[in-house]
Amino acid sequence: MAVAIESTEYMSFDISENQKMITDMIRDFAEAEIKPNMMEWDEAQIFPVPLFRKMGDLGLMGVLVPEVYGGSGFGYAEYVTAISEIAKVDGSIGLSVAAHNSLCTGHILQFANEAQKQKYLPKLASGQWIGAWGLTEPNTGSDAGNMRTVAKQEGDYYIINGAKNFITHGKSGDVAVVIVRTGVVGDSHGMTAFIIEKGTPGFSAGKKENKLGMRASETAELIFTDCKVHKDQIIGEVGDGFVQSLKVLDGGRISIAALSLGIAQGAYEAALLYSKERHQFNKPISSFQGISFKLADMATKVEAARLLTFRAADLKNRGKSVNLESAMAKLYASEIAVEVANDAVQIFGGYGYTKDFPVEKFYRDAKLCTIGEGTSEIQKLVISRAVLK
Ligand SMILES: Cc1cc2nc3c(=O)[nH]c(=O)nc-3n(C[C@H](O)[C@H](O)[C@H](O)COP(=O)(O)OP(=O)(O)OC[C@H]3O[C@@H](n4cnc5c(N)ncnc54)[C@H](O)[C@@H]3O)c2cc1C
Repeated sequence: MAVAIESTEYMSFDISENQKMITDMIRDFAEAEIKPNMMEWDEAQIFPVPLFRKMGDLGLMGVLVPEVYGGSGFGYAEYVTAISEIAKVDGSIGLSVAAHNSLCTGHILQFANEAQKQKYLPKLASGQWIGAWGLTEPNTGSDAGNMRTVAKQEGDYYIINGAKNFITHGKSGDVAVVIVRTGVVGDSHGMTAFIIEKGTPGFSAGKKENKLGMRASETAELIFTDCKVHKDQIIGEVGDGFVQSLKVLDGGRISIAALSLGIAQGAYEAALLYSKERHQFNKPISSFQGISFKLADMATKVEAARLLTFRAADLKNRGKSVNLESAMAKLYASEIAVEVANDAVQIFGGYGYTKDFPVEKFYRDAKLCTIGEGTSEIQKLVISRAVLK
């Protein structure tokens, strides 16, 4: 049976002037600011905060935020272009930009009240503040709705106790949107989203993770010990936090699809170039069918991932539900990013296994994309529920 997917009759395959401008701007920026430093950041796991301030000046920290709140006011096509162009060079910087834009900033943009938007969006969109978003806990990742971090009401305040882990910008974030339990376990309306600023008593960062890839993107624990937060910091209504999160993740998955697409494209381009330059048996290795067919498969996968990702972006721009389409884009793009990066390392041979060439990093970074913002198995749950409906 065919899956009931939204029509793409309005989808344009043309690259807009804005997309061209974003592509050129990021290429220049990456050449000057990211490429010369990225291996040092990767080796030492440095999260380069000043770089994010500079990206704020370029409008990359509030891509989807309307201009009235200090953002760039772009749509999802421009957003996907921005994330994939950054990830083509460095996946970990792409991941951090994606998490800042679509999780923390995206949650406030979609669900916060006007006063909260005016207070937080200009700081986030300018890159003056870096945002974090906390849903995952040590014992509840895929099963996030089973979370145990609790907020208990005391008058106009809530007292929060518990911990969130694997949080992007858990240490360096200036503000976090955190989803915690305010009702009973098992009730999807028993969770509430709070905006919590760094420095709030009882709110601290814990362990920073030492990771396989995405090493310049900071991942750390958030700890709450009798953390007292005013009820004005609640986003939307008490009990809406988990439902809001699922909607935020629908958009977030387009981000991770874009991130995957950029990593796959970067690995493919590096392998294509190398295959023409590297000679064995007095011929460029691209002349061997074993290599050229690999390149054909890589190019086809990258194009298919691009189409799925931009289709989800197009639907999101038109205000349509993207639950199914963003899951498909995220599942496919992340899985092929791992495959394409693996093939790229193979095409580079022994040199691909060294840190002198970029493909080993694409290979390490790509793997996160099949895990973060819902594993591939969870995307298949979402897709299968939709096709079996
Ligand atoms: C670098 C990085 C950055 C992250 N950033 C953030 C962030 O900013 N904010 C945040 O809230 N979280 C963040 N996360 C957490 C991330 O979203 C979770 O790691 C992810 O959702 C998986 O949860 P888990 O790690 O607990 O794995 P688990 O849920 O324990 O899953 C383990 C395995 O079991 C499988 N599995 C689980 N349930 C099912 C099922 N029903 N059917 C089939 N298979 C299943 C999974 O697919 C996986 O293969 C980040 C993680 C990483 C690694």
